[in-house]
Amino acid sequence: MTITCPSCGSLRTRPLHRGRKTGAGIGMAAGSAGGVAGALSGAETGALVSAWAGPVGLALGSLTGAVFGGLVGGTAGGITGARLGNELDARVLDNHECLACRHTFRSTP
Ligand SMILES: [Zn+2]
Repeated sequence: MTITCPSCGSLRTRPLHRGRKTGAGIGMAAGSAGGVAGALSGAETGALVSAWAGPVGLALGSLTGAVFGGLVGGTAGGITGARLGNELDARVLDNHECLACRHTFRSTP
């Protein structure tokens, strides 16, 4: 499908994906924060459970929990944010730019 500029009729347009990029960034940050917070409380629980394994097991368990919590949270948040941003791109924002006249517009089929 070719998208033409509604202002000047040029065929030279490109998608912007502003919402997707912004959403992914915000989601990544929020997800990482949530993941780390969850990992910290998880580390406390893990410390109680693995207390019998001694200080080495306790430290390993806490570290692994924190790292995984941050990674998983950040990735999940980024994906969720990107999906939300895609929705914004498609429904709310001007999601195309004309390369001829710099007009931004929504492409609605
Ligand atoms: Zn144009």
